[in-house]
Amino acid sequence: MAYSYDDQNIFAKILRGEIPNNTVLETEHSLAFRDIRPQAPVHVLVIPKGAYVCYDDFAQNASDAEILDYTRTIGKVCEMEGLAANGFRLISNAGAEGVQEVPHLHVHILAGRPLGRMLEHG
Ligand code: 5GP
Repeated sequence: MAYSYDDQNIFAKILRGEIPNNTVLETEHSLAFRDIRPQAPVHVLVIPKGAYVCYDDFAQNASDAEILDYTRTIGKVCEMEGLAANGFRLISNAGAEGVQEVPHLHVHILAGRPLGRMLEHG
């Protein structure tokens, strides 16, 4: 389906510099920053700079350069945070049933404690 992007979402405002963020890494096409309500000792959000609502929107419509940059940025953040030693979890929520709060693609990188089973409910 064709997604419609709301440019008033909070991550669009972060990308425009309208609200501050705690940046971990910025590249040509991507931005990684710390979640404002961390759910683990390491909780980094990685977003593309382009206007993509969620992962399938990005995977279907982003350019090769954006996809390469985004994937490499996730890898670089994992390296910078030293996550290979003890592991981590990548989550990307989408839509109503995925319980996505902010309608701009993001992956959560969570680490720094045992994270439990993948889905706690159901
Ligand atoms: P979602 O539920 O959409 O997958 O996750 C959205 C995430 O964005 C949540 O973990 C929430 O804490 C985080 N978040 C919401 N507003 C802000 C903000 O203004 N700054 C930062 N750094 N994170 C935010």
